[in-house]
Amino acid sequence: MTRKILKGTSIALLVILAIFLPVQIFMEACSPITQNIQASPYTEVLKIGPVIRVRRQPTIVPSKRIALTFDDGPDARNTAKILDILKEENISATFFLVGERVGHYPTVVKRIFNEGHLIANHSQSHQDLEGLTNEEIIRLELDPTSRAVEKLTGFYPMIMRPPYGALRMDSVEYLNKAGWKIVRWSLDTFDWDNTRNKPEEIINRVLDQHHPNAIILMHCNGPTTINALPGVIHTLRDLGYHFYTVDQL
Ligand SMILES: [Zn+2]
Repeated sequence: MTRKILKGTSIALLVILAIFLPVQIFMEACSPITQNIQASPYTEVLKIGPVIRVRRQPTIVPSKRIALTFDDGPDARNTAKILDILKEENISATFFLVGERVGHYPTVVKRIFNEGHLIANHSQSHQDLEGLTNEEIIRLELDPTSRAVEKLTGFYPMIMRPPYGALRMDSVEYLNKAGWKIVRWSLDTFDWDNTRNKPEEIINRVLDQHHPNAIILMHCNGPTTINALPGVIHTLRDLGYHFYTVDQL
């Protein structure tokens, strides 16, 4: 019974091939598309059975990468607005969160994570870490923050930025040995400084100081950042930059 079915199927397949194969060979031979492709030195024609695939030579454009980073969040209003702008512009950024705030705004933390941004650690209490022992830095400031983020997202951040950028050299070595990656910044927008943070001042600063792989410092906790952010993004885009999270630079 099974043999009969197999035999029948094989015959049917042979009949189909006998009908369609000559038609396909004829079409390939006569196709003007095929002739055009073969005439062009810039394309490569791959023939696999009856299928014609055209593969263009890839254009290699060196990628200019840049990272936007936002410190001191989450908060009730501004972080959500920053997320709205990033979503509209379709770009990813890095958020250095303060542990004490993570528990207050769990929905915002989840949103940051779910929208594909990178969450990093900006300490539990935002104190100057130079006043703590190395063991205290991890036990009191870094671990509680990353645990709080992990509780909400399942992700335990191991990238940290010290508040005020302040960290002793022995702490840098200690944290590196413990597996922590320390990320400061290379371009301060001064969005935190009320005496010089008008949107045009921030954008001019970006125009003056941008460079490939720059890490741009901004903050979650002020409306000025939101006013300047679309302009910062468009300025950098016009300069040919693509936006990445800090772990992708
Ligand atoms: Zn900070």
